[in-house]
Formats: sequence, C-alpha cells, structure tokens
Amino acid sequence: MKNITNLQSQARIQNRQLISYEIFPPKGDLTLETARSVAGDLAQLQPDFISVTFSAGGSGNSQATSEVVQLIQDEFNIPTMAHLTCYGATKDTIADHIADYRARGINNVLALHGDPVPGVKPKDFQHARDLIEILADEGFCVGAAAYPEGHVSCFSEDENIRHLADKQSAGANFFITQLFFDNEVFYRFWDKALNAGVSVPIEVGIMPFLSKSQITRMIFTCGASLPSPVVKLLAKYENDEISLRKAGIEYACQQLTDLSDHGVDGLHVYVMNHADVARETTEALRSHWGA
Ligand code: FAD
Repeated sequence: MKNITNLQSQARIQNRQLISYEIFPPKGDLTLETARSVAGDLAQLQPDFISVTFSAGGSGNSQATSEVVQLIQDEFNIPTMAHLTCYGATKDTIADHIADYRARGINNVLALHGDPVPGVKPKDFQHARDLIEILADEGFCVGAAAYPEGHVSCFSEDENIRHLADKQSAGANFFITQLFFDNEVFYRFWDKALNAGVSVPIEVGIMPFLSKSQITRMIFTCGASLPSPVVKLLAKYENDEISLRKAGIEYACQQLTDLSDHGVDGLHVYVMNHADVARETTEALRSHWGA
C-alpha cells in the first residue's frame, strides 16, 4: 500500500492538498461489520488516506486497529495508517505489533505515546520519540502527533516546539496536529515550527464539535481553547442539539477552507466514524477548490 510521504509528494506536484479521515476501530458494542460499513461509506468519498486509532495501554482490543486497517486496504483499496501507542508497552509487545502490521501489509504508522491508563504503569517507553525511532529503523513511514496549543501536560511553548523537532530527529516523516478551533493559533505554531527547523509536512487535524458534552470532553482532554465565535455558537444553540451539530460542521468547513487557502500541508478530519461529517467537510473543500 502507498506510503503517505509518496502521497504527499504526488499531491504537491498536482498542487493540491491531501484529505484524510481518522476513525476508531470496533470497541464495546461495535463490530467489524460496523467498521466495514463505515469504511464503505468513507471509501466512496475517495479520501487520500484513512487512519485508525489504537487504544493506549492495552485498554481496548489491540488487534482491532490492524484488522480494520487491513480491511480498508484490502476491500476498499484506500491507503491507510495504523496508530500505535507505547504507554505501558514493553519492547516485546511493540515487536509483536510490528510483526502483526508487517504481516497485514501495513506500512504507515502514527507513533504515539498514548494517554496514561489508570492501573497501567509505563514500562519500556518514556516518550513517543522512543517508538518513532524503532518504527523508522524498521522502515515504516512514520507519522507523529503535533500540538499547536501545546500538549496538556506541557506548559512551555519552547519545550513544545523542542519536543516536536526531537520527534523529527527521531525519524518522524510527517506530523498530524491535535484538534484546534482557532486557526490563528495554528499559524503561529507553524511559524515557530518552521523557524525551529521542522521541515517535514504538518497536516492539520480538525474535529467538528457535534454536541455540548463532546466539546466539554475535548477541552479537558486536549486542552483546546475556544475562540469567541465558537462560544457564541454554543450559547446560541445550547438547547437545540440538531442546530448545534449543523453549526459545528459548518464551523469546521470554514476552518478547513481557510487552512487550505493558507497552503497547509494536508487536511485531516477527525470524522470519528460519522460518515456525514466526512461527506460535508470533503464536499465543502472540493467545492471551494472548484473540483
Ligand atoms: P509524547 O511526544 O511522548 O508527549 C507526551 C508528553 O511528554 C508531552 O507533554 C510532551 O511535551 C512531553 N515530552 C515529549 N518528549 C519529551 C522529552 N524528550 N522530554 C520530556 N518531555 C517530553 N491516543 C491514543 O491512545 N490512541 C490514538 O490512536 C491516538 N491518536 C492520536 C492522533 C493524533 C493526531 C493526536 C494529536 C493524538 C492522538 N492520541 C492518541 C493522543 C496522544 O496519545 C496523547 O495526546 C498523549 O498524551 C501524547 O502522545 P504523544 O505521542 O504526543 O507523546
């Protein structure tokens, strides 16, 4: 299956930006059949690639990610990326995942630390950079996480940029950002990253807000700040779930088209298995491009 870096180079030659989606694998009541149906809906939109999340610290079915990635590649012929986290992992468990990914023909991996899981202690990996190094040595095309507003546990902007540059030195071929609602925050971060010598592509990650409970969770888990236009929309549609969801998707479309106009390296939408989110954001971008 195609490497994401090759897709990025092709897109640059064609003077366009990559569109990608992030989904999660079966968990709880979700089955592989549900994942197949979501993948089928997304495949019709012909994204450049789809990435599939991984449960940190063994908190979910650790095979689910690679099963869904293989399904999308084999049944829908869409390039994919498997996430992999190292929190609570040993070198041996990571070696097992690498063997599994290889056997399934997976060559794009987003290398992450993963959020701490209650009851699980860190083992052989301190930071994502340790995993990035191993995956890069093993010949994978490696993506890593970037934080325009800093990671929730990082309180210094300079340190945030230093850790980003360190991931590139460890072998990251590209970055995907944490979600954000204020594009100006991203543009400032992008400048700083470029000035610090970060030269690999940084794809922007955008997640539409779909409900009040979801946005509250995102603020606490991701540390994303809310600009006043978002606060006003939340206030306006406080008691109208359907209009709030519509406004959230429209706001994400505006963010994406503005980011596209600023020439960002790629547009990654956290669709989280909502086919309507993927369809509406993709249609907004393609109609903005006149495609
Ligand atoms: P790290 O780079 O290790 O950073 C963790 C903390 O350590 C940060 O505060 C950082 O500033 C600090 N740090 C980094 N390097 C150093 C260093 N050398 N010295 C001192 N401090 C350092 N989580 C999942 O569980 N599954 C997923 O599938 C998943 N997908 C994600 C996809 C994207 C695009 C993003 C942005 C995040 C995703 N996450 C996922 C969440 C991510 O795992 C958490 O945010 C996690 O807490 C940090 O991961 P990291 O890879 O950035 O870790």
